[in-house]
Amino acid sequence: MSSRRQIWVGGVPIGGGAPVAVQSMCKTETADYEATIKQIRAVADAGADLVRVAVPRETDVDALKRIVVDSPIPIIADIHFNYTLALKSIDAGAHCIRLNPGNIGGPDKVAQVADRARAAGVPMRIGVNSGSLPKHLHELERENPVEALVTAAVEFVALMERLDFEDFKVSIKSTSVPNTIAANRLLAERIDYPLHLGITEAGTKWTGSLKSAVGLGALLADGIGDTIRISLSTFHAEEEVKVAWEILKALKLRERGPVLIACPTCGRLQFDMDTVVVDIEKRLEAYADPIEVAVLGCAVNGIGEASHADFGITGAKNEGLIFSRGKPLKKVPTEQLVDALFAEIDRYYAAGKQVVSDAALAAEGAEWLAAIEAENADDLTPERLAAMEKAKQAEEAEAVEAERLAEAASPTAGRRFTRA
Ligand code: SF4
Repeated sequence: MSSRRQIWVGGVPIGGGAPVAVQSMCKTETADYEATIKQIRAVADAGADLVRVAVPRETDVDALKRIVVDSPIPIIADIHFNYTLALKSIDAGAHCIRLNPGNIGGPDKVAQVADRARAAGVPMRIGVNSGSLPKHLHELERENPVEALVTAAVEFVALMERLDFEDFKVSIKSTSVPNTIAANRLLAERIDYPLHLGITEAGTKWTGSLKSAVGLGALLADGIGDTIRISLSTFHAEEEVKVAWEILKALKLRERGPVLIACPTCGRLQFDMDTVVVDIEKRLEAYADPIEVAVLGCAVNGIGEASHADFGITGAKNEGLIFSRGKPLKKVPTEQLVDALFAEIDRYYAAGKQVVSDAALAAEGAEWLAAIEAENADDLTPERLAAMEKAKQAEEAEAVEAERLAEAASPTAGRRFTRA
């Protein structure tokens, strides 16, 4: 299902079991060297493995020559219509060329780019977009847009293979999330080249992130996709990278930086969690380690579902608790919760990743927590309702299994459908 082949874009492996690579695309005019390199550094700092820049003019090629040297991550030159810009971008030192064989001027132009790329050892990304399918597929596109997208991609792959060029990855993109999912699933069955995933023109940070999480998440969960780009309508390309990482982290495909877990809050919330969560999320950006930090809006359930977290807080009106891996560390006034949490996290790193606990403070915290739990023992919190539901399901499953075993052990078992 996932790509068998592997290519290398600069020093980054794509496909063949390599970690899913994160990429973004500069929003700047590539010819503006200063603005472009600044944005490249921003996306690299945010965790991009690769970055794409648009090359629609000769002046972009001039800037590209400097950019490829100064960039901390490999550069993909994005070319449409003008194959000579692809040739010049290869000569300029681009680490990969993205082109759509359908709009580059015919197979002979694609052949020239493939020859130059092969000689330079530069891979390509062959991109197919729902908006620019070859003419002979327009009718099929009306009847079956998914099949049309996949057919276009497979035809381009066949063209590249005829040209004896196999150092490429493939992307098929659509503005439709269901079509993107269906097309990539089908394509993954038909070709073994690495796949680049993305949703075209996904939208704003809010809608675009959601569409991408649904579309790319479904594919990545199936093991499909070797590199991803989240397309968002924002000038801050690093936002795309942050979203990409959240998707990969949620699927446990890659680790980068802390994981924040927070309860959804409910009527039992005892402190201003909206502000606290945002504050914690911002401050966690300074940490590279994948520690898990939990924020619980009240202590009614104890540490409960967050007991696996490396660090966490739970609060009441005036006081809150800092805990670590299921054990109380100390109670503190609510307004000091966030600072105290980060003091504990810093202490952990200063001690060589050892949780530092003061027995007297921990005992005081445990006592505080036990009192709150006892006070609210009968409350039906969302967590307790979920636990009850889970227990009921387990009980039912056990009863069904017991009935099945009893039936199998019965002397009449297997004879039920025997004819007399
Ligand atoms: S009961 Fe659960 S959801 Fe409600 S505030 Fe407490 S921890 Fe959060």
